[in-house]
Amino acid sequence: MTQVTEHGGGVWSLRVPIPDNPLGHTLVHVLDTDRGPVLVDTGWDDPTSWHELTSGLGALGLSVQEIHGVVITHHHPDHHGLSGRVREESGAWIAMHAADTAVVRRTREAEPGTWLDYMTQKLTAVGAPEEHVAPLRAARAAGRMRTLPGLRSAVPDREIVPGELLDLAGRRLRAIWTPGHTPGHVCLHLEEQHPAGLPGHGRLFSGDHLLPGISPHIGLYENPGEAHETDPLGDYLDSLERIGRLGVAEVLPAHQYAFADAAGRVHELLAHHEERLTGLLSLLAAPLTPWQLAERMEWNRPWAEIPHGSRNIAVSEAEAHVRRLVKLGRAEAVPGTDPVTYVAV
Ligand SMILES: [Zn+2]
Ligand SMILES: [Zn+2]
Repeated sequence: MTQVTEHGGGVWSLRVPIPDNPLGHTLVHVLDTDRGPVLVDTGWDDPTSWHELTSGLGALGLSVQEIHGVVITHHHPDHHGLSGRVREESGAWIAMHAADTAVVRRTREAEPGTWLDYMTQKLTAVGAPEEHVAPLRAARAAGRMRTLPGLRSAVPDREIVPGELLDLAGRRLRAIWTPGHTPGHVCLHLEEQHPAGLPGHGRLFSGDHLLPGISPHIGLYENPGEAHETDPLGDYLDSLERIGRLGVAEVLPAHQYAFADAAGRVHELLAHHEERLTGLLSLLAAPLTPWQLAERMEWNRPWAEIPHGSRNIAVSEAEAHVRRLVKLGRAEAVPGTDPVTYVAV
């Protein structure tokens, strides 16, 4: 039986499992509108997840054919994976922020091998040792291409415009652009009185931006074609402050559980990143490449035990932090170094 939670005021959440992932599940939210139910996120593209989604809807007396629209917080496969299937079965529209729609298009249209070339070049540039890069080169040479889930994900047919109300009959749901975790991540503010009378201004579908017990991954926005240097961590911290100021009564995140104290959680996350940036600055007393920095940073296990793919994620996170420090004028690239090293100023 799919675990279904009623949040009141025509909002429910369904626990849709993510196979072989420590996160466990995505909370897919169902929002009742005058033109039919709308989903906020859909879950991972997998038969078990699809079964749980449809049986969860069934427990609410709904069929997937009745879904009127799909609002996606961000393009990651645990959120957008089943959107295409829902649209096929119901004719629902799919809405996403333009920056994440661009990621979906790029991923679908990429030439086979583009990703491996990009990762090889990028990892070399950040100082990854040859033994880390060699398997990627070998995969390319052997014609083993990327088989990540995003290759088949659905192209949205509606755009979520920041600051605007979504076109939902009888509901006030406003899009708040919260880049950081992805370039087009949005939170959705349900500007209606809390059904149980909790104090505050409405409720917030927070996607992965604000979770009660997890600090979301902030790496670089991976875009092989992009020349200008983005600052995802800076975007994320700004987005957190924006959410903190909304004064919402309750947060309905896409993982874990609903919680009330949004401002308190925002404060904790801001303090966590400040502490992390300070720690990095002391590591950068001597010049380090992003790879050397990642090796020295604190992770949830020793560096030696972190598998290959997770090291790529870790080094991307280290780079995002370095980029923030550079933007703040607290670190700089050492001229003439290759791979480039950074040092605190
Ligand atoms: Zn995500
Ligand atoms: Zn997620």
